[in-house]
Amino acid sequence: MSDLYFGLEAGGTKFVCAVGTSPDDIRERFRIPTTDPAATIGSAIEFFTAAGSRHGNPAAIGIASFGPIELRRARADYGHVRSTPKPGWSGADLVGPFVSAFGVPVGFDTDVNGAALAEWLWGAGRGLNSLIYLTVGTGIGGGAVAGGNLVHGLVHPEMGHVSVPRVVGDPYAGRCPFHGDCLEGMAAGPAIEARWGRTGEDLGEHLDAAVALEAAYLAAGLRQFVYVLAPERIVIGGGVSELPGLLEEVRRCLAEDLAGYGVVSEHFDDDFVTRPALGSDSGVAGAFALAGAALSGQQ
Ligand code: ZN
Repeated sequence: MSDLYFGLEAGGTKFVCAVGTSPDDIRERFRIPTTDPAATIGSAIEFFTAAGSRHGNPAAIGIASFGPIELRRARADYGHVRSTPKPGWSGADLVGPFVSAFGVPVGFDTDVNGAALAEWLWGAGRGLNSLIYLTVGTGIGGGAVAGGNLVHGLVHPEMGHVSVPRVVGDPYAGRCPFHGDCLEGMAAGPAIEARWGRTGEDLGEHLDAAVALEAAYLAAGLRQFVYVLAPERIVIGGGVSELPGLLEEVRRCLAEDLAGYGVVSEHFDDDFVTRPALGSDSGVAGAFALAGAALSGQQ
């Protein structure tokens, strides 16, 4: 039987299609700008159909998607995008067209859950039972593996939208359209730009202040994840996570925030809060991981 996967990283600005068996064996990839659902999904199916004639038919397909998405299999709208501000995409069926076109198992989950599963299988979480993957970029999102399974229930986790205590002296209102000063509202890339009028790559003399504030908010969020989900490792990716010195400062603030309660020595290891091992391939790797999970009937 083929061990080939078709992986689709369905993002808000681009869809990345990939063919391969693992992050170490990506045989082909193809980018499609995200426009309306019919055109974007149609282009992806067209690419995969042609790729199938070059590489063979896939054993399974994985779709790692932007959210919010419906993941409850018993529902008629399983596999659809839920209500989103993204024009045209509310209610769009992401899974159905691929099931119809290829007739193989289709794994489907959030991009961050996909990345969490991929880091657990092939990256920074290999050999562990649990892990959190958090991306900090234009938004903040997180996925979790617990006991070898992705965490979701009524909905998928929305780790960026937990509330965090305001850092003393920080007057910024926050820019989450739903909650204002939730973690994403206070610490995603747009909050950095709004505070300092500069992007994360161009903070100049504001870098130290920005890193200190960013680390304080991220650590406040991580404290909640540590206490609620008890992960063995936390992987932090996304553009903002690359601010020089940020991860070191997050580790320091988290240790301070945990204040010695409920901790074990591993919480203070340098690799407890760490970078993704799969780097920029985490999206595609996530889609492959979801395909593998669909094939083995895990997700
Ligand atoms: Zn929010």
